[in-house]
Amino acid sequence: MDFSVTILGTSSAVPNSQRNPSSQVVRYNSNYFLIDCGEGTQIQLRRNKINLSKINHIFISHLHGDHVYGLFGLLSTYSMLGREKDLNIYADAKLKDLIAYHNDFFNNKISYKLIFHALKEGDTEILFEDKLLSIKMFPLKHSIATHGFVFKEKEKQRNIKKYKIEEFNISVSQINEIKNGSDLISQEGKLVLNKELTTDPEPVRSFAYCSDTAYFPNVIDEIKNVDLLYHEATFMNKDIKRAYKTLHSTAEQAASIAEISEVKNLLLGHFSTRYNNIDPLLAEAKVKFENTEIAQEGKEYQIGLDF
Ligand SMILES: [Zn+2]
Ligand SMILES: [Zn+2]
Repeated sequence: MDFSVTILGTSSAVPNSQRNPSSQVVRYNSNYFLIDCGEGTQIQLRRNKINLSKINHIFISHLHGDHVYGLFGLLSTYSMLGREKDLNIYADAKLKDLIAYHNDFFNNKISYKLIFHALKEGDTEILFEDKLLSIKMFPLKHSIATHGFVFKEKEKQRNIKKYKIEEFNISVSQINEIKNGSDLISQEGKLVLNKELTTDPEPVRSFAYCSDTAYFPNVIDEIKNVDLLYHEATFMNKDIKRAYKTLHSTAEQAASIAEISEVKNLLLGHFSTRYNNIDPLLAEAKVKFENTEIAQEGKEYQIGLDF
C-alpha cells in the first residue's frame, strides 16, 4: 500500500521566489487528500504531476490566507474541466459562505457536488474513515480556530501461513476469522492456536500535520509515535518573542514536540520569509531531535520509511 506525502509549499504569510505557501498532498493508494491550499497550489500540483481530478478531499487547517487563497481558483478550475465527481471540503464553517459568495460574484457554474464538512473549533473528531485509513482532526493553538490532522492506517489483518491452509484444509470463511486472530479447531477436533497459523501483520503507519501553532503540548496524545510529523517552524530561537506574539513555533519548539511525542521523523515547514537561509533552523531543531529534515517542495516522502 503506497502511503506518502508530497510537499507543495513551505512558506508562511507571503509567497516568494524560493517557496510557496502551505499545501501538501497525502496519497494512500489511489486516494489523494489535499491539506491546505495556499496561493499557487494548482500550479504546484501540475508542476509535480499530481492529477487534480484525483483529489476528492480537501482539508483546510484554518482561515488564514496563506492556507486558503489557492482554493478559489482550484474550485473554479474543476468546473472548467467539467468535474462531475463529488468534492469534500473540511474547513471552518465560515468558508462555506465565502465559497458561495465567490461563486455568485464571478457567476461560476459549479459542475460537481461540493460537500462541505464544517469543523467545530476545539473539536477532536474522525473526519474520514474507510476500511484501511482514518483521518482525525485535533485542535492547535493559533490566533484563530486551527486544526491539525492525523492520518492513520487501521490495524491490519494477521498474515496466514499458506502451507497451513493446505495442512489443515482451512476454508475461505475460516481464513478470514484466523486473519482476525481466531484459533482453529481442526477437522480432527484438535485446537490449533492462532500464533501457529499466522505471522504478525505489517506495522500500522501514520502521518500528522501541525500548522500553524504555538508550542502546544496538548497535541502529544494525538500525534504520539507517528512515523512522520510535519510541524510548523516559522521562527529561529532569536525571534522567539515574535513566535509567542504571533502564536507560531520556533524550529526548536517543533523539535521538542517531536521528541516528547516520540515520533520517528520530523519535517519542518512554514518558514518566515525573513530568513533567506533556513539551515540554522534545522541546526536548532536537531539539538532537540536528530531525525529532522527541512521539508523540500516537490519531494514525496514515504510514510513509514526513515529519512
Ligand atoms: Zn500560516
Ligand atoms: Zn495562520
